[in-house]
Amino acid sequence: MNTIDKLEVLTDSAKYDVACTSSGVARAGEKGKLGNTIAGGLCHSFSSDGRCITLLKVLLTNYCMYDCAYCQNRRSNDVPRAMFDPRELAELMIGFYRRNYIEGLFLSSGIVKSPDYTMELMCETLRLIRREYGFGGYIHAKAIPGASREAVGRLGLLADRISVNLELPSEESLNLLAPDKPREDIFRPMRNIRDGITENRSDIALYRHAPTFAPAGQSTQMVIGATPETDLQIVRLAEGLYNKYSLKRVFYSAYIPVGTSALLPPGDTPVPLLREHRLYQADWLMRFYGFAANEILNEDNPHLNPYLDPKCGWALNNLHMFPIEVNTADLEMLLRIPGIGPTGAKKIVAARRGARLTFEDLVKLRIVMRRAVYFITCCGKMAPGAKIDQNYIYYNLLSDAGRTPHGMPLAQPPEQLRLGSA
Ligand code: SF4
Repeated sequence: MNTIDKLEVLTDSAKYDVACTSSGVARAGEKGKLGNTIAGGLCHSFSSDGRCITLLKVLLTNYCMYDCAYCQNRRSNDVPRAMFDPRELAELMIGFYRRNYIEGLFLSSGIVKSPDYTMELMCETLRLIRREYGFGGYIHAKAIPGASREAVGRLGLLADRISVNLELPSEESLNLLAPDKPREDIFRPMRNIRDGITENRSDIALYRHAPTFAPAGQSTQMVIGATPETDLQIVRLAEGLYNKYSLKRVFYSAYIPVGTSALLPPGDTPVPLLREHRLYQADWLMRFYGFAANEILNEDNPHLNPYLDPKCGWALNNLHMFPIEVNTADLEMLLRIPGIGPTGAKKIVAARRGARLTFEDLVKLRIVMRRAVYFITCCGKMAPGAKIDQNYIYYNLLSDAGRTPHGMPLAQPPEQLRLGSA
């Protein structure tokens, strides 16, 4: 197999890794313009300064000694296999970089011989890229479950971000679908990465030229919808991971049928993309809005409402806290109002120092009034027609027909729509 054939196989095998923020796009080169993209193998991520960067997303190999039922690279799957030699992949990546096709690398791998052997090959690839070719750009590498502390330590000194995939949200599911991977084999490298980052901070405080260890932090990925865990279990788990392992991101990946195992949902099951989207919204609430997992969902209500974003859902279940007066509420309470994000909340706090804010002022501050209007007062008054009534607000939040150009609600919702019945 030549290098380009290998590239085709190994970028296709990497397509379900979601440590990037969008899927690849296919764009042909145009006369007079520089560069093009291919759908397989390119993904986008954001650097710490907010730049969107294009990464070559590839596996070192799709041979794997494990047989995880949800994975297309599992041992028992009959797919074309390939493996790069570290230098071959390093040269390919640097060649793409020099031609301006890519700005960085996302490297993962199936497991050959042992986790540490695979990590050794990955580290050698990155060593060549960093040390021999002097590449200083962004590299995201997946640590192999079961890898030793030493192997994780070496990888962390070469990559900007490291991730270990959690894969499934519970130990029972992992035992069932990925019996070769004990949960501890996933959590131990996570702990090692967390400790490495913490120790590295102290080293840099003492000696600012000390080599950096995973400066972009660590992340993980969970498959959603392949196993029966509730959204409550998933958001609680994500909260625990953020707190315990200082993760930068948890990625949720809607299960795409890739196998025929009786343990998995059948091939005609719809991909739960909306569920994935709602989980990302709930995750956002925990990371940027100060919500705890137990505020978003609870035992009586363990699933996110597919029709409403989780913040609106929370507000509807806590109407006793509303309306909130935007001219006096503190930042923490402003962040609880649907339609007001961290930027909007800060703008409100700054703007109301000069004058008392009206609904028109909020529109000028680009507050999303079609959501916020049901939950706020300005100078002690609600918007005309708005009222604190669960069914009324639910209908208006759901129905585009209930929105006027400035997001003001219709006077009366139809009676047949009831909370949770859409
Ligand atoms: S160890 Fe990774 S690559 Fe191998 S089968 Fe499991 S999920 Fe797939």
